[in-house]
Amino acid sequence: MIIIMKREATEADIRQVVSRLGDKGYGTHVSEGVEKTIIGAIGVHNDEKALLAEQLEAITAVEKVVPILKPFRLVGREFQPENTIIKVGGVTIGGNAVVISAGPCAVEDQEQLLETAQAIKAVGASILRGGAFKPRTSPYAFQGLEEEGLKILAAARQETGLPIVTEIMDPRSVDLVMEYSDMLQIGARNMQNFFLLREVGKSKKPVLLKRGLSATIEELLMAAEYIMSEGNTSVILCERGIRTFEPYTRNTLDLSAVPLIRELSHLPVWVDPSHGTGHWRLVAPMARAAIAAGADGLMIEVHPRPGEALSDGSQSLTYANFARLMAEIKPIAEILGRTV
Ligand code: PEP
Ligand code: MN
Repeated sequence: MIIIMKREATEADIRQVVSRLGDKGYGTHVSEGVEKTIIGAIGVHNDEKALLAEQLEAITAVEKVVPILKPFRLVGREFQPENTIIKVGGVTIGGNAVVISAGPCAVEDQEQLLETAQAIKAVGASILRGGAFKPRTSPYAFQGLEEEGLKILAAARQETGLPIVTEIMDPRSVDLVMEYSDMLQIGARNMQNFFLLREVGKSKKPVLLKRGLSATIEELLMAAEYIMSEGNTSVILCERGIRTFEPYTRNTLDLSAVPLIRELSHLPVWVDPSHGTGHWRLVAPMARAAIAAGADGLMIEVHPRPGEALSDGSQSLTYANFARLMAEIKPIAEILGRTV
C-alpha cells in the first residue's frame, strides 16, 4: 500500500510514518516528489491492510492511504506518478530529450568500434552500444570478445566521451562488467534470470532491461520490479520485439507497448527496432514510429560494413543510413515537443 503525505508534511512527519511501519516489520520505500512525498509500505498482508490504513490516516500529516492494486509496486505509477529521470555518464534519460544509443551488435576489434563510435557521435547519438558477451542461438557462433571487448569499449569511451552500454549475461560477471560500463544491459533471453536481476539490483548502475522474446508487458514490469526491489531505481525498459507467427520479420515489434508502459510505469521506455525487425530496411521506419509513439530512446545497430559483421549484419545500418535515420526522427520528436 502507499501512504500519500500532505503537501505541508515535514521531514519529521515522514520519519514518523517510516518508523511506525518499520516497527510493525514492514519495509518502506520513500519517493519524494516535487509536490508530495509518497511512502510505499512493503510486505503488508491483505488482512492487515484495512486496520493499518485506518491507523495511518489518523496521523495529521497523512493525506490518504491507497492500496496498490497492480502486482508491480515500485515500478508502477500508482507508487510514483512522476517520470523517473536517469543519468548515464552525462546523458539524461527519461526527460524531454530523446536519447539515441547506437553501435555494433558485437565489439569485433578496436578499429571497428572506435570508427563506429565517432560516426554515430558525429550525427547526434549520445550512448555507444556494443556486445562483449554475446547471447547467440548457436553455441558455435561468435560468442564475443569478453573482457577484451570491454576494454575496447572503455577505450572508445575515453576517446569519444560517449558513455557505454553492454550486455551482462552472468551474475558472476557483474563486477567485471560494472568496472567497464556505464549502463548494464539485460538481454531478452535473460529477462527472467532472477538471480541476475537481483544481482544488478544490488548495484547502483543504470540497467537497460530488454523485453523477453515471449514476455508479456506485465512480465517485463515484474522483471524490473526484481531490480528495483533490491534498491536500484535506475531501470530503462526496452521493447525489442516479441515472437509471433510472422516469419517475414525476426520479431514483431510491439509499439503499442510504448504508450502502454508509459501509462503503467514511471520508468523510461526505449525501442530497439534492429532486433525488433531483423532487417536493416525496416529499422528507420520503425524508429520513426517509435519516436511518434513516445519512446524516450532508441537502440540501433550500426556497423561500418554490415556485409562483414560477425553478428546481426542483416539488421545493421551503414553510417549513411544511420545519419539519414537521425535526420528523419528529429522533426517527429519536435512535433511532440521533444528534442533529439
Ligand atoms: C543486443 O542488444 O545485443 C541483443 C542481443 O538484443 P536482445 O537481447 O534484445 O536479443
Ligand atoms: Mn544484435
